[in-house]
Parts: sequence; C-alpha cells; structure tokens
Amino acid sequence: MRNLTVDPEIAAIIGEQRAAELEAGPYPVDYRCVRCHRGGRVNDGEALAAGLDVTPGRMRLWFVHTACGPAEVVVFDQRQPYPEETEATGVLYAGNSRDGLPWACVVIELTMSVELLDDPAEVGVDQVLGVALARGMRPTADPLTPPEPDGPISWRVQLPRPGRHGGGVYGRNRLQLISPLPPMPPGWLDLVAVRDGRCGLYVVSRLGLLAVLDDLGTALTDAARAGRLVGTTAAVIR
Ligand SMILES: [Zn+2]
Repeated sequence: MRNLTVDPEIAAIIGEQRAAELEAGPYPVDYRCVRCHRGGRVNDGEALAAGLDVTPGRMRLWFVHTACGPAEVVVFDQRQPYPEETEATGVLYAGNSRDGLPWACVVIELTMSVELLDDPAEVGVDQVLGVALARGMRPTADPLTPPEPDGPISWRVQLPRPGRHGGGVYGRNRLQLISPLPPMPPGWLDLVAVRDGRCGLYVVSRLGLLAVLDDLGTALTDAARAGRLVGTTAAVIR
C-alpha cells in the first residue's frame, strides 16, 4: 500500500497533476530516503513524503521517511552540485502494429535525479526525454509503430552473445542507454527478422515501467498522450 504524501506547498510548485501522480503511483517505484539513506519500494507502505530543492532553472525532487524528518521546499540561489544521475529500466516486448505486421520493440524508462523546471506543457514532451530527442527520436502516439528516423538509423540494439549476459542499447558516440539488454521474450528475434533486422525503440519517462507490465500497451499509450513517450526505429546488431 502506497503511503507517499506531497505537501500542498510542493504541489503548488510541481503542479497538482504531478503531485497526484506521485501519490497515486506507480511512478516512482523505488526511493532512497535523503536522511537515513535507506531505500526500498514506495508501495511497501512505509510513510514517505516528497521534498523539493529548487535551484535556478531546475529542481530536485527527493523523498524522506516521515519518521526521519520533514519534507520541505529548499530554495538555493545557485545551482547545487548534484550528480545528474540517470537510471534506466528496460523491457523487450512485441505486438501487432497498425500495419498488421508485428514489431519487436524495446522500451526504456529514464529517471533523472535532477529535473528541469520547464513546464512540460509548453514544450509538449517531458524534459527527461531531451537526450533521446536530441539524438533523433520523436514523440510518438503508438507504442507499436515506431517512427522512421529522418536520416540514417542512429540507434542500435546490441544482442548479447549466445548464452551470455550482455548487449545493450546504444546511440552514436558510444552513448549507452541501457546495458545489459533486458531479457528477450520467446520469438522476439523472429519478429526482428520480419523487419529486416530492425526493432522499435522507445524511451518513456515517469511510467513506473516494472509496475505496469501487466498492461504495458495501455500504460505506454497513456504515457504517449501525456508527452512522455518518444521513439524511433533501431538496428538490431548481433
Ligand atoms: Zn529515512
């Protein structure tokens, strides 16, 4: 049972909708308390509150056990030296797209520890996805029909060696989105072959990916409507 509260003062800054999403879940799935540094699953029911550091141009949302101290808004005049950690979680899946042919797909959820303050409603897509957009991915409404890249394919899904752990998803200049590659469902590679060695590659933000696997298609479609899904066609490399 989720027991995460967002103080109205914080909700006023991050927006009522975002605050309601944090309280309802499933994102975030995991947390680490900023005071005692003990972490866990948000849905495990321990009483948590969200706090916020506000610095010029960006904010950092954090979580604290309510037993460990207050959640508050801390305003800094200058940027703080937070490490800009990005965490990636991924899933491989497959389904029939609108053209009737199946696509093999990869979806990766990106979580950033430091978030930009820009209003996502203004730019139309979640700022966490900036790294993917800057490298040719495009907002998409359909998690089964990946957009074609404007130029050459610039993303690749590297398969692990047979029987081995490894592989990953990479962009140009050795940019690593995730490694190792998440587990491959049966038949996934056959669908890649149907598409001449290509697959759909999606990046999503604030989904709670590992908590929505039972109804991934609906969750991704909802994320797309909220401007939190971008994608492209990627090459699958052995
Ligand atoms: Zn704590």
